[in-house]
Amino acid sequence: MSPVPDLRLRERLQHDAVHGAWHDGPRRYLVLRPDSLMGALRLLDAATRETVFDALALSVQRHGGDSLRAYAAGVNGDARALIAATLDSAADLGWGVWSLKQQGAALELTVQHSPFAAGWLAAGSDPHSDGLAVCAPIRGMLAALATALAGVPMQVHELRCAAQGHRECCFVAAPAPAPAAGGKGTPCSVAQRLPGHTQ
Ligand SMILES: [Zn+2]
Repeated sequence: MSPVPDLRLRERLQHDAVHGAWHDGPRRYLVLRPDSLMGALRLLDAATRETVFDALALSVQRHGGDSLRAYAAGVNGDARALIAATLDSAADLGWGVWSLKQQGAALELTVQHSPFAAGWLAAGSDPHSDGLAVCAPIRGMLAALATALAGVPMQVHELRCAAQGHRECCFVAAPAPAPAAGGKGTPCSVAQRLPGHTQ
């Protein structure tokens, strides 16, 4: 395999009609309706759902991190190139439009059009599960990216989510416990809610 992936992920993905599979080199991908995935999480009780969200984040950090290590090898550890490859790949996979900013030792990620928030909202409405930040897979991928860039373990929190009525999702990755949502001076301090949401 070429050490530098000149092509974007969406151009490298190949469909294997014989096996009914999508691949980027050795890595298989799955195309899945977001409401199918997120609707399953709506069916869980609150404690189990929290556990599954955290497990999803950790699994994406581990296994999505494998894709990240492949990107990193392709760009010889160049941080800017790794960030660009990750953001491009997120869009190519249908994970929305990502924007990353450095905030001191922390990284702030905003995501527009998260499929997880959209899938959550499309899967129904339930007073017991509405109002949550639901983009756990993005948390996991950001943890993998932030850890690769910082060289130390990074914790990620989703401070605001489109599933809560915000215009975009906002995450922060930090080496120490991240600031609480809504605190003065926290990242993503300009909250934007869509009309019709009251939370
Ligand atoms: Zn979200």
